[in-house]
Amino acid sequence: MKKYLSLLTFLLTAASVTTAQNGEVFRMSEFAKPKKREIIRIPNVDGYQVLKADFHMHTVFSDGHVWPNVRVQEAWNEGLDAIAYTEHVEYTPYKADVKVDNTRSYDLAENQAAENNIILIRGTEITRQTPPGHFNALFIGDASGYIADNDPSKDKAAIEKAVQQDAFLFWNHPGWKATTIEGSYEWIDFVDQLQKEKVLGGIEVFNGLGFHKKALDWAMDKGLTVMANSDIHNLVAHDYDLATDYVHRTMTLILAKERSAESIREALEAGRTVAWASKYLAGKEEHIKRLFNACVEVGPSYHSKKSKDANGNETRTNYYEVTNNSDLYFELVLRSGNGTKKIVLYPSSSQIITAKDGQSNLQYELVSAYIRSDEHPIVTLALK
Ligand SMILES: [Zn+2]
Ligand SMILES: [Zn+2]
Repeated sequence: MKKYLSLLTFLLTAASVTTAQNGEVFRMSEFAKPKKREIIRIPNVDGYQVLKADFHMHTVFSDGHVWPNVRVQEAWNEGLDAIAYTEHVEYTPYKADVKVDNTRSYDLAENQAAENNIILIRGTEITRQTPPGHFNALFIGDASGYIADNDPSKDKAAIEKAVQQDAFLFWNHPGWKATTIEGSYEWIDFVDQLQKEKVLGGIEVFNGLGFHKKALDWAMDKGLTVMANSDIHNLVAHDYDLATDYVHRTMTLILAKERSAESIREALEAGRTVAWASKYLAGKEEHIKRLFNACVEVGPSYHSKKSKDANGNETRTNYYEVTNNSDLYFELVLRSGNGTKKIVLYPSSSQIITAKDGQSNLQYELVSAYIRSDEHPIVTLALK
């Protein structure tokens, strides 16, 4: 037995020495980044799937820092459903090194997106001077042939191309340059006309790390679809602290009938979106409430504590578990009823709340969500 063991030891040693002598590469895969797709957990909302989309991204084919395939890899890693390359038609600073072609980023990534189950929508950024500023056109056909100079006299004609293509058009980052160009952050005539002619379908409320608060009010007042996008130029991981558990890149949550480009278009036209950035949501009250109700549930009272009030009467305090079945973040402040004053619902977690006995519900202001620049929705926690 001993003999066999030493023979085995010899063979094993010989094998590893041989490996080294042959100069083979020993792959230390334990420190490679695991290849996996994150799941952004958001339950269906009243029969709609909640798709995660970023419809404002750049690559080296305008002024971004990456090749198009990187955007698909990022979207796959982060668990997005749909993306669009929106290169600046009028701004191509790398033209000495990269051939100017506004269709190229889509074309180069099309197969990879399909293989990775990412819905790739054809888009472009129409980059006029500010004001009126920038517009994204989605669901365009050929992205070539857009007016490539940004002479203000051609603003209308530049948009006209998107109209001919039956694009879904939205106004980007309306507050961009607000501090440097006077009058740049107003509801301007040019945009008013686009909205009245029903050419303009949406407006960016969140752009990257920026919350364009006036844009949310305009979306509500003018019936525009709320959009949120990264407008990413660098690597997403370079600009976002993705290790923080409530941080994802800025994106639009789309309440879609199906997970398809057609359903996305239908939902954008119908205005069924919620903007999501960091801890915050913004959008129509109706959609935010439906989203909240789909994500958050209150369990039955699991404990009851007796105590005496100031008058010596016996009262009961009931204990409940509130569960957030989503990767969204909710912060609530009590507005009516007698219960826990403040609740923070971290992604995919639960909290304990208490409420005085004899109440059917508590009303909270959802302070991490905006339905106007200065208004949060009120949500109800039903008690059983
Ligand atoms: Zn850019
Ligand atoms: Zn822009």
